[in-house]
Amino acid sequence: MELKGQVVMVTGGARGIGKAIAEKFASKGADLIIADVSLKSAEETAAELSQKGVRARAVDLDVSKSADVSRAFNEALKECGRLDVLVNNAGITRDGLLLRLKEEDWDLVLGINLKGVFLCSKEALKVMVKQRYGRIINIASVVAFMGNPGQANYSASKAGIIGLTKTTAREYANRAITANAVAPGFISTAMTDALSENIRQEMLKSIPLGRFGSVDDVANAVAFFASPDNGYITGQVIHVNGGMYM
Ligand code: NAP
Repeated sequence: MELKGQVVMVTGGARGIGKAIAEKFASKGADLIIADVSLKSAEETAAELSQKGVRARAVDLDVSKSADVSRAFNEALKECGRLDVLVNNAGITRDGLLLRLKEEDWDLVLGINLKGVFLCSKEALKVMVKQRYGRIINIASVVAFMGNPGQANYSASKAGIIGLTKTTAREYANRAITANAVAPGFISTAMTDALSENIRQEMLKSIPLGRFGSVDDVANAVAFFASPDNGYITGQVIHVNGGMYM
């Protein structure tokens, strides 16, 4: 098994894309830490994975709160002893046209989507630097590159992730730590199920491959970056969007 003996933490790993990423790593034999703001859902996901024969633990974590992040990483490291892969997946939307966007919704989205990546990467790097090995994979979005009406806060947070990923890649390359991003397009999850049928049909017209992406499409790209074989690829973005942005 390609990742047997490796420890992987997935933030927002209880459901949606994060859960699919966790399942992908489980299929490669890794030990999983499911870190999510909903402990109950994280425990359910960890229990499902454990039934498949891998070690999986749930950790209660709000990525936007530094004290919470330190506690969760300490807890996880105490139990697992190492951390090989961090997938910064937790993210939310609070949409609204710029003129009507509330400051609190700006702060909330930037706090979870961007500051959360900073806080979790910082904790992960402390151990990865000592190990002289690590993979950090950040989940961005196609809207970081295209923009999207109604998503000023979300697109800014995801564009910020791209800069943060490249800087992380440059700062820690000399410790054999890579940092890369996956930028999904329109993926079928609870986040996109919440959109109206009209918007969904409009989006579909803009996708050359003619379908919405699946959570597994994203998980496959994340697994690529996480592979020990791909240690010479850093600061890069894989676009998983069916061709809607090229
Ligand atoms: P999702 O179904 O809403 O799942 C997000 C997960 O993150 C949930 O388990 C959620 O917990 C958790 N979470 C929310 N806030 C958190 C916090 N502060 N700390 C820790 N965990 C938190 O979303 P998704 O569609 O799978 O999206 C996953 C990632 O992909 C996000 O970064 C998103 O921006 C990105 N993305 C998604 C799409 C798409 O089309 N779906 C496209 C591009 C990028 P709760 O259940 O309690 O909310």
